[in-house]
Amino acid sequence: MSELHKFLFDGLPVRGMIVRLTDAWQEVLARRASNTTTGAYPTPVAELLGEMTAAAALMQSNIKFNGALILQIFGDGPVKVAVAEVQPDLSLRATAKVVGELPADAHLTEMVNTGNKGRCAITLDPKDKQPGQQAYQGVVPLFGDDGEKLDRISDVLQHYMLQSEQLDTTLVLAADDKVAAGLLIQRLPVKGEGNLQGIALDERNAADEDEIGRNEDYNRISILASSLTRDELLTLDVETILRRLFWEEKLLRFEPMAGARGPRFACTCSRERVSRMIRGLGQEEAESILAERKDIEVGCDFCGRQYRFDAVDAAQIFTSPGDQLPASSVVQ
Ligand SMILES: [Zn+2]
Repeated sequence: MSELHKFLFDGLPVRGMIVRLTDAWQEVLARRASNTTTGAYPTPVAELLGEMTAAAALMQSNIKFNGALILQIFGDGPVKVAVAEVQPDLSLRATAKVVGELPADAHLTEMVNTGNKGRCAITLDPKDKQPGQQAYQGVVPLFGDDGEKLDRISDVLQHYMLQSEQLDTTLVLAADDKVAAGLLIQRLPVKGEGNLQGIALDERNAADEDEIGRNEDYNRISILASSLTRDELLTLDVETILRRLFWEEKLLRFEPMAGARGPRFACTCSRERVSRMIRGLGQEEAESILAERKDIEVGCDFCGRQYRFDAVDAAQIFTSPGDQLPASSVVQ
């Protein structure tokens, strides 16, 4: 069963979180494997997407925000896009688009940053959006401070979190065909709550910026966390990992989130959303598709569900009352 555990280091300005996706991650992979058009993900893509999904679950749990956290990579290599999306209730979905071949041992650069144009985006999409309200998006290049290409998504995200929140963050991620898991350690803000939304007070930012890299407790715990190997993260249970890493620290544990409260696969696609997308294509385009074939067929990239609209359905999409939505709301 997939699970997420939060903990604090007693008396120290450091918090942690560990996520272990098993059934939820296997469901993502099984749905892709059963897609007869794409087939299963190549191994390096599955590993990247699993790490992204674990990271997105950690990042979603790390903020107080009522909306989806969407972690995306737009690549300029064989992986054109990779997306992991986690709702506030920890339901999640993920997908990637792969074009052409890639080496069996491909790293991040070979997959998504061959021409230096790959980038990573973190979007916070509010649940009950008012008309005209925009989602918040932060975009990060796949390079470090010295212009070096980053070859692990954990490095990209650590960098992003340090810059956006002014908080030291350590992220260890791993995924294979059974498990996607991650450990996050973060220094607590000097004052008040940390947030991803970039609307923090200047004063608080300055205090936190001053503290970057200086907190000895954080530094010690970060070194312990970084010693966790990929194999350990994938094969050991949460209790064993925490005991092995932090046996000398006093942890305050929160009730684990698992089962119906924990991370699980769920897709937010619906016939209504697909209708809106077809409406966005315009009547002319829809009719030209229907002139060539019986139905408009739309498959969901996340869950594989197929939606079919025949000529009668399509006509209804364009004639139903109250359907004149502004262009900005035609979003999947
Ligand atoms: Zn779906």
